[in-house]
Amino acid sequence: MKLFFGLLCLSLGASEVVQEADARALTAIVSFLASDALEGRATPSSGLTIASEYIASEFRRGGLKPGPGGTYFQEAKVSVRRVVREGFAVSFNDGTKTVAIPAETGMWSAGPRVELSGAAVRRLKVAELKDWKQESIEPVVILEGPGAPGMQQGLMRLAEAGAKLVVLVKLPMPLSPQTLEFDDQPKTKLVMLRSSDKDAEELFQSEAALKATAAIAEAGSKSDTVRNVIGILPGSDEALKDEYVVMSAHYDHLGAAPNEEGDKIFNGANDNASGVASIIESARLMSKLPVAPKRSVLFMAFFGEERGLLGSRYLVRHPVVPLKQMVANLNLEQTGRTDSSEGPNVGQANLTGYHFSTIHMYVEAAGKETELKIVKHEKFNEPFFMASDNASFAPGGVPSTTMSVTYEFPDYHKKGDEWEKIDYANMAKVTRTAAQAVYLMADAPERVVWDAFEPKIKSYREAAEKLK
Ligand SMILES: [Zn+2]
Repeated sequence: MKLFFGLLCLSLGASEVVQEADARALTAIVSFLASDALEGRATPSSGLTIASEYIASEFRRGGLKPGPGGTYFQEAKVSVRRVVREGFAVSFNDGTKTVAIPAETGMWSAGPRVELSGAAVRRLKVAELKDWKQESIEPVVILEGPGAPGMQQGLMRLAEAGAKLVVLVKLPMPLSPQTLEFDDQPKTKLVMLRSSDKDAEELFQSEAALKATAAIAEAGSKSDTVRNVIGILPGSDEALKDEYVVMSAHYDHLGAAPNEEGDKIFNGANDNASGVASIIESARLMSKLPVAPKRSVLFMAFFGEERGLLGSRYLVRHPVVPLKQMVANLNLEQTGRTDSSEGPNVGQANLTGYHFSTIHMYVEAAGKETELKIVKHEKFNEPFFMASDNASFAPGGVPSTTMSVTYEFPDYHKKGDEWEKIDYANMAKVTRTAAQAVYLMADAPERVVWDAFEPKIKSYREAAEKLK
């Protein structure tokens, strides 16, 4: 109850704090970031680099301070690795016959060279991986689906135990011929392979004991640099200004498909030029305030969300301010379009993991001021908690959520996600609400906390305890 009254007073007192967001400014930002000139902002690409420069310049215009070292960028060194298809020769023998996998039926992941002759083969189901803790394993593993939680960690344990080649059977997990490896993390030790060859499929699904012979070339490797963009609004309270509310959005998207007919570019206007425009505009509105909130606000634009939350995970591995000083993360996604796949979403916004922390109370208080309805989507709010950059903060103990107008919309991850389709008047309202919510979290006497009872977030609560 104490928190409730505190908030109520604050929200009333703060009614005029964050002024109207500028719909034209939002249009300008989204139309540039989502223009064809930026080629869909793939991670990494020159379009992404140009976007990062632009965001930094907007942070400078807004009067934000740079991050540590006096720079608006947090650089990450990466290697882009690409499968080399030449020299591929993989076959299996069941004691009576040898079945070779034709290269043209194979998809495999970028990794080290694989060279095996008559190697032992082990069969495993994904479900068995969960408790699988042996110290060594055969060099070749046939891994059968369906997929299950913990599969990624299971694959890592297989690599540690000595598996060199993992053949995926009835497992629809995507295998990209190009991967990104961070220089601060161990290199991939195994190659995953899938084949659509009928004879091979039959052999993999049989019970026969198999021996494998394989030659797969080491993936090519090219060094590159990708960047998160950082801007800081310093807090006004001596005692609290070393604490930060993180307001974030990813600025990358899917890039382009140069070999396709017609439109080639995934513009990513709603996903997520809109979220970026909202944080830029929020930064501008908040830095115009006569008195900054008590705590500091850390504005962040992330690379690599579309490739697996890479930029936010990098930040959590290399926090620009200690995690224990981050009090909350409000992440923004898809703040522009109101034409949700479920019907029009005008005048409302969603939060993921709605009741996981006290963040919703601040956003609701802000929404009261701006007349924006804050919605708990019963079906989507929890599953989507893991689907954007806020998910990188939670295991580190930092309470987080993603705010969006829609979950699913008609052009999601399609080339038609273009800037003209956004409802900028509604986006201005959502942006103002998000900024107001960040202001309230940054200015409140209490820190945001995880829900004390929800069993699903026990590990997040424990991580938060460790930060103390
Ligand atoms: Zn997104």
